[in-house]
Amino acid sequence: MRAVRPRSTRSHVGASSRSRDRNNMERLQGIAVSPGVAIGEVLVMDNEGFRIPRRFLPRDAVEDELQRLKAAIGAATSEMERHRDRVAEQLGKDSAAIFAAHIQMLNDRGLWSKLEEMIRQRHYSPEYSVSRALRHYAKVIQSLDGGYMQERATDIFDIEKRLLRHLFGKRREELAHINAEVLVLAHTLTPSETSNLNPKFVKGFVTEIGGAGSHTAIVAEALGIPAVVGIGPFLTNVSGGETAIIDGYQGIVILAPDEEMLARYRHDVVQYRSHAAKLEKLRDLPAETADGARIQLLGNIEFPYEVEQCQKRGADGIGLYRTEFLFMSRDEEPTEEEQTAAYSNVARAMAGQPVVMRTIDLGADKLPSIPYAPEEDNPFLGLRSIRLALRNPELFRKQLRAILRASVGGNISIMFPLVSTLLELKHAKMVLREAREDLEEEGTPFDRDIKVGMMVEVPSAVVMLDHFAEEVDFFSIGTNDLIQYALAVDRSNKDVAGLYTAADPSVLRLIHMAVKTAQKHEVPISMCGQMCGNPLYVMLLLGMGLRSLSVTPAAIPEIKQVCRRVDIATCEHVAKRALELEGAPHIKTFLKEELAKFLPEVPV
Ligand code: PEP
Ligand code: MG
Repeated sequence: MRAVRPRSTRSHVGASSRSRDRNNMERLQGIAVSPGVAIGEVLVMDNEGFRIPRRFLPRDAVEDELQRLKAAIGAATSEMERHRDRVAEQLGKDSAAIFAAHIQMLNDRGLWSKLEEMIRQRHYSPEYSVSRALRHYAKVIQSLDGGYMQERATDIFDIEKRLLRHLFGKRREELAHINAEVLVLAHTLTPSETSNLNPKFVKGFVTEIGGAGSHTAIVAEALGIPAVVGIGPFLTNVSGGETAIIDGYQGIVILAPDEEMLARYRHDVVQYRSHAAKLEKLRDLPAETADGARIQLLGNIEFPYEVEQCQKRGADGIGLYRTEFLFMSRDEEPTEEEQTAAYSNVARAMAGQPVVMRTIDLGADKLPSIPYAPEEDNPFLGLRSIRLALRNPELFRKQLRAILRASVGGNISIMFPLVSTLLELKHAKMVLREAREDLEEEGTPFDRDIKVGMMVEVPSAVVMLDHFAEEVDFFSIGTNDLIQYALAVDRSNKDVAGLYTAADPSVLRLIHMAVKTAQKHEVPISMCGQMCGNPLYVMLLLGMGLRSLSVTPAAIPEIKQVCRRVDIATCEHVAKRALELEGAPHIKTFLKEELAKFLPEVPV
């Protein structure tokens, strides 16, 4: 019998490996990001990276495809018009001229005739026609002398990319309309594409790129879809309709499995289910350590429907509501009314239990289709999160008003993400103050005692925490970002995934420092990063003094089980010892051994 693998043994190995046996079965190793096992037929999404195959259309599809192209040109034009207006407003007409030129090029009659000819006469797909026509233009321009012409060629590539994004966008929207059970295999899936997957039909997914800390991974967990990312190039070896196994515990994908492998995994699925059923019995018991310390166990949510999953698992509240997901995968910004309704629903459903509403954390890998965020070379270090909100005061104010208005219906607090300087926090609080004053003037009710906190997810915030403590009612440590900014490793890049680990001693020290400083200043501190949803780290975190953990809803039962088995004195001893160790591998081994003493039935 193979062992039931708990989440604590999830593979976070960066390098992918592959092997093929003589029966054509192929085993691929990637990064496990969402637990569970899925077995089924695959659907291959081969249109990523804009590698455009020369595809021919059936004769009767020509008119529809021309319409599709027209719609894509229309959508790309509106997008650029919004960019143009925004740039004109912020930087002046001259800076906006480039977008005006792009719009003109995109709507050029000559270009349309060429595209129409390719589709009607040669039956090329719109994607291939766009790519071919625009690349031809770019080549001609590149062959002319001068830096100015080179720049114009770059503009054409930009237009090609934008148009293809709209054409593919339509195609990829089909992901949301899958109506038969499949395993999706793709080069990559954005967080918003992932959030559109229907777990009833999409039983698992695998991507060639991506890392353990990516938001795609977080959404997969929220949806309960087993997922493996960072496999490396493999899509050219698979055809749609083949059978595959996705092992989201160990980061393994098996293509064309033989009967013996299928039987083994089917057996494992039964084991996992019985393990989960046992944990379900803990639902109504408190997350209390063996020596009586009460741990607040909260849920992280991205979508309002996850409230039910939190309640089903006996969460003490919501420690992180990633509100930005309301702004993603849609063309228009949600109105204040829409936001108020969404936030009120969550607050009301939680019936007095705490709900921490994090203000929008857009940018980096969470790009809305609306142009709040410019394209950036280093988006994780760019105009992301609170920075983006402060640059878009109207957008930010509207959200704050909606949260405040919703606060009358429940126990809401506000949390600012990615705060890196004190000035930034003060600026955010000023916008909040203005929103409060406006509501007061209008006579709109809101909770006047609403608590205001911040995420601690940038090392500078940890270093300056004593100053931040004067300004906020609570802190929440976001390890997903803290790890990437402390170690300079992109949380969504498979090539550095081996370096992305919560067990790094520097990360442990930063957390310890944050907890101690918050305690000294008597400001409550919690954790909402993925680290605390991994049983491996629970003893360490309790030992460092944390008493409030916010985890993905599916992880609540397992984390509760750990809390109920351990005692604080031992946890403190474990934390002390772990903080003395010098490397992540030693720390992980040590933590596994310590956890095994309390949970011997879970193999680690
Ligand atoms: C974090 O960074 O740990 C966090 C909880 O926020 P997010 O994953 O949304 O960046
Ligand atoms: Mg974060």
